[in-house]
This record gives sequence, structure tokens and C-alpha cells, in this order.
Amino acid sequence: MFTAEVQRCLMEEYYQNKSRSTTDTRIWMHTTDGKFTIKSYAQLIQGNQGRQGIFRKIWSSWIPTKVSFFSWKLLKGAIPVDSAITKCHIPIVSKCLCCTQPAEETSLHLFIQSDLAKPVWAHFNDLAGIQLPRFYNIGLIIKTWMTAGKKGSMEYLCHSFIPLAILWEIWKEAVPDIHTKEKIKGWVPQDG
Ligand SMILES: [Zn+2]
Repeated sequence: MFTAEVQRCLMEEYYQNKSRSTTDTRIWMHTTDGKFTIKSYAQLIQGNQGRQGIFRKIWSSWIPTKVSFFSWKLLKGAIPVDSAITKCHIPIVSKCLCCTQPAEETSLHLFIQSDLAKPVWAHFNDLAGIQLPRFYNIGLIIKTWMTAGKKGSMEYLCHSFIPLAILWEIWKEAVPDIHTKEKIKGWVPQDG
């Protein structure tokens, strides 16, 4: 949802403020007191990018903010799975904790293809009669769910939340050291 231009502006603002400051503290430019809040971030994203497609649904008011925020980060490749951390030139040896035969921890692996995720998706896809396309990514799976069913029906509403809830639960279950990973310094969301 952040265009390259918006990302560049945000980084510039950040570094300008950092260089003016005598102490090395982070300043969030989109609140009056310079402190980061989820609300200001959500407003910024919505204001900058319009409200289209799955992103609009992800930020629906009835979806818990932490789930919206997590889903948005996941779709932007900003969830710190091993492969994304490696992209930031932080050397780590990737070995997932979600399978009996450890594989490289990518978002697609952890959230869709792992021993942990596969049976969960199979169960819910079967229950809701969702047919996934042959070639997919996480965004396409969310979209397939969110567009299934009759618009305005309770089923349609549930389909908007179920994939996000599944992804959120997998994340909580699979990554017990989530807080350690989130604290990695210099973490910048990768585009795409
Ligand atoms: Zn795995």
C-alpha cells in the first residue's frame, strides 16, 4: 500500500529528524507528539492509498486492529519471517519450526504450505467450499476467500474474516519468539 514515493518521503523525514536530534530517538511524523500509534499509521495508509479491494476489507472496523495490522504487514512482506530478515542483509540460517522436516522459513511456507498450516487451510477450505487456484500466493488466497459467497450475506462477511484469523493464529502458534523478531533493529518493510 505504500508506494515507493511514500516510502522514500517517510525515510527522508525520519533521517532529517534524526540528524536534528541530539539523542538517537525515533520520531513518528504523523502524530503531534511524535509518538507512533497504530491509529495514526492506519489513517496514513488509508489516506494515502485509497480503500480498494482486500486492503479495504482488511482495515474494516469490525476486524481487530492487531489482525488488520498484521495482515497488512504480511501482504507487504513486512512480517519478519527468516527469508524477509535475510533480505535486510541480516545473516541468519533459516530453519522453520513448523515442520517435522525443517525447511526455509518463507511467508508462503509458514502460513500456507507448512505441516502446521496445511491441515488448517484444508479443513476450512473444505468447510467453506473454497477452491484455490492452481498457482497462488497469500494475497490470492485471501482474495479468493473474500470474494466467495453472496455479497452482503453473513457467509460473505465471515469469509472476509476467516482467512485473516487463520493467518493470525498460525503466526501466534508458529513463532513463539515473535517479540524478539519484531525488535530487530533497522527493520524496513520490503515492497511487494
Ligand atoms: Zn516448516
